[in-house]
Amino acid sequence: MATIDGLPPLREVIATHGLAAKKSLGQNFLLDLNLTAKIARQAGELSDCDVLEIGPGPGGLTRGLLAEGARRVLAVEKDARCLPALAEISDAYPDRLQVINADALQLDPLEHLTPPIRVAANLPYNVGTELLVRWLTPPQWPPYWQSLTLMFQREVADRIVARPGSKTYGRLSLLASWRAEARIVMTLPPEAFTPPPKISSAVVHITALPEPRYPADPKVLEQVIARAFNQRRKMLRAALKGLKPDIEDRLIASGIKPTDRAETVKLEQFCALARAVAAP
Ligand code: SAM
Repeated sequence: MATIDGLPPLREVIATHGLAAKKSLGQNFLLDLNLTAKIARQAGELSDCDVLEIGPGPGGLTRGLLAEGARRVLAVEKDARCLPALAEISDAYPDRLQVINADALQLDPLEHLTPPIRVAANLPYNVGTELLVRWLTPPQWPPYWQSLTLMFQREVADRIVARPGSKTYGRLSLLASWRAEARIVMTLPPEAFTPPPKISSAVVHITALPEPRYPADPKVLEQVIARAFNQRRKMLRAALKGLKPDIEDRLIASGIKPTDRAETVKLEQFCALARAVAAP
């Protein structure tokens, strides 16, 4: 059966190259090229951008990104078994796809990319959160990317976009909303993947803010939020005890009741608290 890009269907690619999914590498493949093109479209205008893709696998999303007009794609894949399949895509799109066989956690992709840069990936679940935190934190901040369009487990996506008062609100939500704007743009049922994972997935689109939403020292903010959420069921005066002798006064000065719990406190209040804690 012919495909939109003239390359073989992904099921055939997987059979030809013996790409049985490996659990240890978080391999749940997307085989529907209409779906991967739809995800690629969520990444925004690609024709003037280099796109960094982590974990291309057999290349479904890679083909979506190229078919949607990406200027160039840099695909970083740890599993060497996928390289011959990806080479076929490079041949079909001359000079537009570079594949690097590496662990994305060990590689500095900037050496291989020309701005403007967007990131798009169906991330391996085991490294997705780690990569996101890195993309939002120095030394990768200020960001080299314009946007991140990333597939996560639904539960992780919910944590990224959560608002105060929600059970999933926490460190990831606060980090994302301090430096960026994050929203869920698609949800996918397990059956969209081969093999199907146990749970649903969601695509999150994240754009960087030019400045953090409220001023705060990043290290102090991280410390305050980490302590507050490590004991999320405790009142803040207990959870933050020991941070400063007069922590209750500093909480009140930041507009937070010492009896509040972390999950009801807004980003703006955490930033005020970080400033109050950093003050002499
Ligand atoms: N993008 C493909 C798709 O949508 O069908 C595959 C997605 S699969 C969920 C995750 C991919 O990431 C796999 O191909 C896996 O081999 C690769 N991977 C896992 N850990 C990696 C790492 N540390 N660095 C780079 N790639 C990795």
